[in-house]
Amino acid sequence: MQELKDIIRDVPDFPKKGILFKDITTLLADAKSYQRMIDHLSHRYTAERIDKVLGIEARGYIIGAALAYKLGAGMILVRKPGKLPSETFRKSYALEYGTDTLEIHVDAIKKGERILIADDLLATGGTAAAVAEMVTEMGGEIVDCCFMVELEFLNGRQRLPEGKVFSLLQF
Ligand code: AMP
Repeated sequence: MQELKDIIRDVPDFPKKGILFKDITTLLADAKSYQRMIDHLSHRYTAERIDKVLGIEARGYIIGAALAYKLGAGMILVRKPGKLPSETFRKSYALEYGTDTLEIHVDAIKKGERILIADDLLATGGTAAAVAEMVTEMGGEIVDCCFMVELEFLNGRQRLPEGKVFSLLQF
């Protein structure tokens, strides 16, 4: 796992001063690392029934789509406003400064479907918490929230359903 951690590039002061950005593109670009990362994550869920993987725009799709394929699950998308063509369910949530909004197609989740939420990185947990609330409000059952990277010092997992958070690499 240390090898996977080492290949992630640190970019200081991006997108603004004081943020150390974890750039996963270096891991994705390395064939063996990308495959190992997806294999490790999917292995955890092979014994579970997962109906759909829900990817969070945009880097969550890179992980979510590969997981859905491996697990034989459907793939659904959470997007920024105005991108999804059909009727949507929306949710706004607080950021450090201001608010953000996410959308999902109203028919993407059927009542009782078992959903795996996927994103590249868990930071403060604000985004994933909003997505988890959307899934629950739409009648879905959250199997887990899985991330490639977790910034543990930000305690994002505290905002997510207890016992339903998994990350592969911790910083
Ligand atoms: P959060 O809502 O704070 O958990 O962060 C949501 C999204 O912001 C994650 O899906 C990441 O893609 C991105 N993000 C936040 N902080 C970082 C960071 N330090 N490095 C890379 N991506 C980040």
